[in-house]
Parts: sequence; structure tokens; C-alpha cells
Amino acid sequence: MQFLPLLTATERLTFPRLGCCRFSSLVAPSLAFVPTSPPPDSIKLEDLQKFVSRSKKLFVLTGAGMSTESGIPDYRSEAVGLYARTERRPIQHSEFICSARARQRYWARNYIGWPQFSSHQPNVAHWVLSHWEKLGKVHWLVTQNVDALHGKAESQRLTELHGCTHRVICLNCKDMTLRTHLQEQFLALNPGWDEEGHGVAPDGDVFLTDEQVKNFLIPECQRCGGILKPDVTFFGDSVNREKVNFVHQRLAESDAILVAGSSLQVYSGYRFIVAAHEKKLPIALLNIGATRADALATLKIDARCGEVLSYLSESETFRLKNP
Ligand SMILES: [Zn+2]
Repeated sequence: MQFLPLLTATERLTFPRLGCCRFSSLVAPSLAFVPTSPPPDSIKLEDLQKFVSRSKKLFVLTGAGMSTESGIPDYRSEAVGLYARTERRPIQHSEFICSARARQRYWARNYIGWPQFSSHQPNVAHWVLSHWEKLGKVHWLVTQNVDALHGKAESQRLTELHGCTHRVICLNCKDMTLRTHLQEQFLALNPGWDEEGHGVAPDGDVFLTDEQVKNFLIPECQRCGGILKPDVTFFGDSVNREKVNFVHQRLAESDAILVAGSSLQVYSGYRFIVAAHEKKLPIALLNIGATRADALATLKIDARCGEVLSYLSESETFRLKNP
């Protein structure tokens, strides 16, 4: 088996071998929110390539480390994560449910952050996983991210474990609407309200003071007048049992699991690694920094998702063309 040399970011992103036109049109990754990491270990790269090549039904779990190269910060990375840079913490589920003021603050900040947050685009790592799905390599993809980037990259065998900020749900009648429609309602209810926020978080939140948000009006559900909430599992809430069972079923049908860009600190994702370990499935971890599952992994590689996945995809395409 031939291993291609690691390419520079520019070379890699314009490399035509994949035969996927979108890869060649990608812009260079944004690295402001990507933690620094040493170059990938070549032996581990080779091991990971073999790991992916051997799998016929790969289960992939992704986290915030997938999207940092699209310019979206994660929560926990050293130096560049939201927790390291600021005092801000994501809203808790109970706070949103119980407090009208908390909902006003949340939606005002989300309203300001939305144009920028919703404009983020998939990076090469998202496109590689979508490409692997088309090749029949990825059996199921589960993401802990709420940024819609896997969907924008056209992945279809996808579960958004914690929901998606691009959808809004009524807590009463469960009616689901698009977040873009809510933006229009915000604008209609708050003409002239144009506060300036800064620092978009992984869930689209920006910073605004209480004074700035006190006059912001939020719409009710147009069907029943209920409270609107993003279709996102906030911290302190849990993923519904039906969705968890569905993912466990997809995992049971898989022959290997790859975790990309997650430290697995949140149990809702970590439980699938524990389940994979109990089933004796091989587990590969691709993440900058330690993860909660390091001791359970068959192999671990400490590097950027975009760098490693694009490398593997070149190699995997080569293998498929040269069996
Ligand atoms: Zn409703």
C-alpha cells in the first residue's frame, strides 16, 4: 500500500485526486480556534489508515474539534476554547425553561450572533466524511455539534445527537420551524433594535449586557402561543431515549468506531464509546489533546481533523482505485 506524503494545507485543499469537485474549491482552514498540535505521527497515521481501510461499516462520532477549522470555537480546548478565553458558560436547560429573563437574554444574543453563526461552512473534514458515506464506508455518523455543518456537507446517514441550532421547537405543541423564519419574526418585533455583540460561541451565542437586552421582544409559537426553544439539547438536559436507542442500533450494525474532534467529556457521546468497547469493536480517536476514552482506544492520534482525514481520504481513494 502506498502512502502519500503529507501535503501543505494549500496543496491538500486543491488536490484533485479525490475526484470530488468541492474539495478543490475549498478555502484554506481557519485556524484561530484550533489548538496547536505537533505534526501527526507518521506511524499512527499509517495505523489509522489501515483501521479505516479495514472497516466496511464505520461508525463515526464527531465533536467540536471538527468545526474549529470552520472558524467555530469549541468549549474546552486549552488556550483557544471558550472556557479558556472567557468566563462565559452555555445556558443551562433549567434556566431557559424557568426564566423569562434568561430566554430574553438567550434569544437576543442568539439573534445578534445568527447571521455570522449560520454562515459558517463545512471544512475538508466534513466533506471527507460525506465522501466516505457516498463510498459506502461510513455506516452512520453521529455528531455532538449543533452547527449543521455535516448537513451542509451533504451527509445523510446522520444523527445530530444534541439537535441543531437551525431548527426551533415549540415546547408546548412541539411544532418545528426553521431558525431563519424566527430571525424574520425577531426583526419584525424589534425594529431598530441593533445592539452590537461580540465573540460567537459554539452554539451561536454572543455576549451582550443585561442593559442591552432588556427591551428585546421574543415571539411565541404561531400555532399555540407556546415557548420557543432552539431544537438543541442544552447543558443539564438529556438526549431523548428514542434517539439514544436508534444510535445504539446503528452502532451495533457497525464494525469499528472513529471519534473525530471530541474530548468525550460529555456522557451523551461517551456512552457510545463505552458500548463499543463492551462489544469489543476497535476504537480510533482523532483529537487534539486527551480524551475521556484514551484508555479504551485501539489507537489515538493527536492532530487536526482536517489534516488527518484529508490525508486518509487520499490514501483510501488510492486503495479503492488500486485493490
Ligand atoms: Zn406551539
